[in-house]
Amino acid sequence: MATPAFEASPAPPTLVLGGGVAGLLCAWHLRRRGIPVEVWEAAAAPGGWVRTQAWEGGQAEWGPQGLPLRAGDATDRLLRALGLSFAEVPRLPRWAALDGRLVPVPAHGGAFLVSPLLSLPGRLRLLAGLAWPVRARDDESLATWTRRRFGTEVAERLLPLAARGLFATAAEELDAAILTRRAGARQVRLPGGMGSLPRALARDLELRPGLRARRLEPVPGGWRVSGDGHEALAARVILALPAFEAAELLAPHAPEAGAALREIPYVSVENWHSIHAAVRPLASGHGFLVHPREGSDLLGCTVAHPGVDGARMHLRSFLPLGARPWSAVDAALRRWVPELPEAQAILRLEAPRALAAPPPGQRHRLARILGALPPGLDWVAAARFGQGLGALIAGVEALVTQGAESRIGGWP
Ligand SMILES: Cc1cc2nc3c(=O)[nH]c(=O)nc-3n(C[C@H](O)[C@H](O)[C@H](O)COP(=O)(O)OP(=O)(O)OC[C@H]3O[C@@H](n4cnc5c(N)ncnc54)[C@H](O)[C@@H]3O)c2cc1C
Repeated sequence: MATPAFEASPAPPTLVLGGGVAGLLCAWHLRRRGIPVEVWEAAAAPGGWVRTQAWEGGQAEWGPQGLPLRAGDATDRLLRALGLSFAEVPRLPRWAALDGRLVPVPAHGGAFLVSPLLSLPGRLRLLAGLAWPVRARDDESLATWTRRRFGTEVAERLLPLAARGLFATAAEELDAAILTRRAGARQVRLPGGMGSLPRALARDLELRPGLRARRLEPVPGGWRVSGDGHEALAARVILALPAFEAAELLAPHAPEAGAALREIPYVSVENWHSIHAAVRPLASGHGFLVHPREGSDLLGCTVAHPGVDGARMHLRSFLPLGARPWSAVDAALRRWVPELPEAQAILRLEAPRALAAPPPGQRHRLARILGALPPGLDWVAAARFGQGLGALIAGVEALVTQGAESRIGGWP
């Protein structure tokens, strides 16, 4: 169905393509500023990877289980404006599967100084790196920068755990700025599950679920967007899509932006939720990450807190997407937790091309993408702002409220 004539609209509409958290955030901020906006979402419901499903009397998350928050930051402002309550995730023990056993991982930098994860010279080198920050160079990989700042031991024993656990990727293949952390942020959970965030964002938005944008065409003063038998005219179109999706729509009009977007790989993972009788020490911790050197395809296993009840624990195991039965996952877990009781329930959730893993040179790549966008088009996605939902929430807030100055968002 064609929308009314573009010229006749009292205020030229903004169209957001993609109703994941990035698109919903854009639309929500624009609407608060009185700008008419409509969101097209290909799936039946908004939220993208931020999605919670009821399972076994509790919740199973498809994507993140929580998000980082610091009092007064963009996430804090957002959750309060939406009226969403949140609870701090307690600091619980976590482990690294390394050298054939589970080794406790300290909760903060200082505690690494007494950790068995590093030798004494390795710890002193870490201390030096904490005291004298070293800025990442453009085009430097996360592995090279970590080695320069914290030394070889940190780069070889600790970093691969984080790179694999968060991005399912080797640190040599990631941009150095990807792991930038905001000091003082703590992890929080939403009692209704992470899916309550997109639900709250979408509450008052003009949302068209089940509508996939397939084509963009320039028209005088704006763009015509079409897909699935629908067509709309908009003065401004925000592509809130993964880089590979945005590339398809953009390439005919901005080949350079399309080519640069295609350089950003997305990793596919599967996560297995399982419920077991609680077993210590796992049940009282956060879980563990597996070092690539151990030769397991298990990336890590987190304990969902709160679990189903005191007697049972809810585990979430991450692996690269593949065709494997539960018995293979169970065997991979048992290597680290031999006393793991048999699963009482299992659920496998696939996440194809879900995690952006920006390679070295992301800052220049973003400049190429954003610099080549034709007037009236913009691209917004987690991969634009850095790592994770915290960076996305802060980046979109800055983009909408400060405009063009923050075109490359929080990417240092
Ligand atoms: C298993 C897993 C664990 C994760 N863990 C964490 C974590 O611990 N911390 C963290 O910060 N992040 C985590 N993430 C990443 C986080 O979920 C994503 O970075 C974030 O949700 C991306 O949001 P987005 O809106 O940019 O993209 P998406 O969630 O991919 O949303 C894009 C939306 O666009 C829609 N769409 C696509 N093409 C079109 C089209 N042509 N027209 C209309 N609509 C379209 C899609 O249906 C989708 O809803 C995790 C992700 C996964 C899968």
